Amino acid sequence: MAYWVNSAAMTAEERAELSLTGWGTAGSVHVLPNSARKWLQREIGWNPRSTPAEGLALKTTAATRLPDAASAALIEIVGDEHVCTDGPNRLRRGSGRSYLDLIRRRGGDVSGLPDVVVVPGSHDEVLAVLRRCAEDDLAVVPYGGGTSVVGGLAGGAGEHRAIVALDVRRLDSIDSIDAKSLLVSVGPGMRGPEFETRMARYGLTLGHFPQSYEFATLGGYAATRSVGQASTGYGRFDELVAGVRLATPVGDWRVGRAPASAAGPDLLGLVLGSEGIFGVITELTLRVRPAPETKQYEGWSFRSLPRAVEGLRQLSRAGLLPDIARLSDPDETRANLILPGSSKAAALQALLRARGHGGGCLLIIGWEGENDAVGIRRRAASSLLRRCEAIRLGRATGQSWFANRYAGPYVRDALLDVGLLVETLETAASWTDLMEVYDATREALVEFLSTEDKKPLVMCHVSHVYPTGASLYFTVVADRDEDRPLQQWLLAKRAATDALLSRGGVLTHHHAVGIDHAPWLAQEIGDLGVAVLHAVKDRLDPTGICNPGVLISRP
Ligand SMILES: Cc1cc2nc3c(=O)[nH]c(=O)nc-3n(C[C@H](O)[C@H](O)[C@H](O)COP(=O)(O)OP(=O)(O)OC[C@H]3O[C@@H](n4cnc5c(N)ncnc54)[C@H](O)[C@@H]3O)c2cc1C
Repeated sequence: MAYWVNSAAMTAEERAELSLTGWGTAGSVHVLPNSARKWLQREIGWNPRSTPAEGLALKTTAATRLPDAASAALIEIVGDEHVCTDGPNRLRRGSGRSYLDLIRRRGGDVSGLPDVVVVPGSHDEVLAVLRRCAEDDLAVVPYGGGTSVVGGLAGGAGEHRAIVALDVRRLDSIDSIDAKSLLVSVGPGMRGPEFETRMARYGLTLGHFPQSYEFATLGGYAATRSVGQASTGYGRFDELVAGVRLATPVGDWRVGRAPASAAGPDLLGLVLGSEGIFGVITELTLRVRPAPETKQYEGWSFRSLPRAVEGLRQLSRAGLLPDIARLSDPDETRANLILPGSSKAAALQALLRARGHGGGCLLIIGWEGENDAVGIRRRAASSLLRRCEAIRLGRATGQSWFANRYAGPYVRDALLDVGLLVETLETAASWTDLMEVYDATREALVEFLSTEDKKPLVMCHVSHVYPTGASLYFTVVADRDEDRPLQQWLLAKRAATDALLSRGGVLTHHHAVGIDHAPWLAQEIGDLGVAVLHAVKDRLDPTGICNPGVLISRP
């Protein structure tokens, strides 16, 4: 059963707009199989109920605080049709897609909206908008695809007069393709599918496929240091960026030179992950590569998580890591085998039980590249995995993962509709600390989401593997406390974040900081690190209008 929408089959209009209260568009399918419903009932002690989102369009939104003179100035810069103060447009740019965002909007909460949406058509227009907003004391929140899950769009106006959402969707052209050097310059508003389609015409690929691929933008990836499903092989998004152009309130700044430079510290690294607080990324130069001749995905099973983690470590040490490595813990493996409710998944479950891997861990690995090279890598890795006591499950398991790799967010909508809390959190740790971080985070989530007769389902997978360690991605499903849904998650998230930081985990591996993680930032980068970010911001954005409240906030 396919849960996700093939965006290539959607009209341009449908593709353009992400649902306000969930994932996908008007054409999305949200179905929870009956077997899944029953299994979740048993697993977490939840009473299914219908909790559909309220009709947001019927709600009244607050009047815009944008002064008339500022409105006229913005219209002069970008044109009348690219300045919107109507409710639906402001609502659409007013939040991301975290559980907290969705619960607020689903409950009809329309607070925290920008006062105006401005859609510039060029770098120069962005510069002019920023200068004018600095003069008029208006906060500017860059808006890409709106898929932030850390409150990256929800910093608020701070001490400024109003909020301008600066939507980069019109900055979506490919400006140059240097196929010889494998460098492509592109606007920040382009989405991944469009970019990959355009690259395919030249036999090229970027290879960045996060789960938000259908809706997130290239500029958003750079601003948050995103990571995709194939990042073990292709590299994190920050490794795929050779340079960016940044429009700031004090002028134009180009950083990063290919192929490499030793001209002082890496200023590109300062801009990547800056989440709009220094200005707006208006152009990216991306490192692409030849499209792979073959893509091969396969499943493996390990008897336990520690054994499987050790298997990945061995692969990494031997230089045999695949391009995609996704290792599910026992609970996620169980859910993957049960939730689809399919006969194939049931047969696989029976096979694993028969081989003594009943409570084991599923590993999906993917190989991409030239046929011969993939064959050599695969064979060497397979024999190492067998020495680590893994069982090969074959290509059908890998293909099934590939076919459903963007399904998660659609399933989440179906779960939100029946009274469940569904949220994710992620971290990374060294091989030495990984299992301790896993145990501590899991325990904190279970403790804070359990009641006398209910317990959460806490699932985890390793999604990215490095020579020194790996990432951990937790998915939590629990009965939603309808009286205090936001606090229920906030308390659990706070406990989990404290736990993972205290055991050596990082604050965020790829979701970024936003407002949600900002209170913990100094624990990771130190007070001096936070002061350095403030100093850079003060130089580039002296009046503090760029995304106030996000990443760093004034004490
Ligand atoms: C269902 C789901 C799945 C996800 N899966 C992944 C995943 O697999 N991997 C991953 O890394 N992340 C994932 N995310 C998180 C999110 O998709 C990423 O953070 C993504 O990079 C955000 O891109 P966006 O275009 O939607 O940015 P937005 O959400 O619009 O913005 C994110 C932040 O960047 C700033 N920003 C946006 N564009 C610019 C710009 N041009 N210049 C300066 N600042 C800018 C914004 O102000 C904001 O602070 C997921 C989110 C969801 C909801």
